[in-house]
Amino acid sequence: MKISFHGADRDVTGSCHLVEAGGKRILVDCGFFQGSRDLDDENAAPFGFDAASIDALLLTHAHLDHCGRIPLLYKRGFRGEIVATGATRELARLVMLDAAHLQEEDANRRMRRNVRAPDPADGAPLYGTLDALNACDRFGRVAAYGQPITLTTGVVVTFFDAGHILGSASILFELEEGGRKRRALFSGDLGNAGRPLLRPPANPPQVDVVIMETTYGDRLHKPLASSIEELYQAISATFQRGGNVVVPTFALERAQELLYLLRQGRERNQLPPAMQVFLDSPMAISATEIFERHPDGYGPAVAELFRNGRDPFSLPGLHFARETAESAAINRITGGSVIMAGSGMCTGGRVRHHLRHNLWRPQASVIFVGYAAQGTLARKIIDGAKQVEIFGETIAVRAEVHTINGFSAHADQAELLAWRAETHAERTILVHGEAETMRAFADKLGGAKVEIPALGETIEL
Ligand SMILES: [Zn+2]
Repeated sequence: MKISFHGADRDVTGSCHLVEAGGKRILVDCGFFQGSRDLDDENAAPFGFDAASIDALLLTHAHLDHCGRIPLLYKRGFRGEIVATGATRELARLVMLDAAHLQEEDANRRMRRNVRAPDPADGAPLYGTLDALNACDRFGRVAAYGQPITLTTGVVVTFFDAGHILGSASILFELEEGGRKRRALFSGDLGNAGRPLLRPPANPPQVDVVIMETTYGDRLHKPLASSIEELYQAISATFQRGGNVVVPTFALERAQELLYLLRQGRERNQLPPAMQVFLDSPMAISATEIFERHPDGYGPAVAELFRNGRDPFSLPGLHFARETAESAAINRITGGSVIMAGSGMCTGGRVRHHLRHNLWRPQASVIFVGYAAQGTLARKIIDGAKQVEIFGETIAVRAEVHTINGFSAHADQAELLAWRAETHAERTILVHGEAETMRAFADKLGGAKVEIPALGETIEL
């Protein structure tokens, strides 16, 4: 019985862990490395194992940094079963198809540019739409929270609600090999309790080994109520100055959570009645439709709305922009609008157009409500850059910049510590965090046995 580490090791993105037990090879997640452009090579690099040798893949949740390399896995020979919750399956299909499409677009652009280059061959996409569709065909059994699934003799897995995004899970492995039994728990990404849409993470089972995320292992979040207050005030103040509010947002969860909060703010008269809201992200629009199909996945307040036949993600003045022309039309609006667009880290997507049109205006605001990895455009703006490059153009940063971290979809240090304590694990393996954060978190664990594997390392269970 062993686990090897092939992504999100001393790093936040690219989650990929390989469990070998009972003669089977089981992956937990196969995510994309995200951040600055030079990660292209990392995504294209060999996995560190033979894709064709993988028997099954368990997917903790649908974020790109957890499912983004699955089509590549298929392309390189994976033909095993993918097990995930029903919501994860639907959302992951959307995310993988979108990623394939973006890569095809990128490749086309590269090839047009490379035509006159000395080595024009180097332009193929990492994977294409067909690989993503074929990967989706590998989805097999649907996991329900708390219901054990036997993968093979001696390997039983159970998914637990991780409270991070719709359908997210922590995964328990009950392993038996040569009379030896081990219980190992992968946290997946753990949610931040008390957020408006989801239930808090389920109480974890007791295990021997825990493999856990540490994204915010070195800090505490501000309380949600003050973050909502800050959001409403920033929007009202910006509108009074005559500007727009740009919110770079992740298409899954964050966009729906913001819609829910804007709806609530309107209902309680804490936001201007004339407010216009644009959700300018085809993927977020599709994700919202998927969210509406899973009313069972939510906490009590939202479930109540659904029961009463009301849509928690709809509000007056809300416009969905699916088409490029609709998106471009938003650029003509100079004030009174909240513009939500992806990507959350501003590394791609339509938000860059909205930043180009609003970032230089002192009346405008940009509100960051999510994690921004080092090297990304979002991180540069958050860190106080006076000017940034967007589409090769230098844009002054004169808009007001807000970072509201109470919306985080990740547990903070106190929540991670409490969750880990409940597992009673004798060994704690840290993944999915920046190296410094991991060290700070490890310090908080006192005398516990903590391991921080490097990329490619193998640990015997
Ligand atoms: Zn996640």
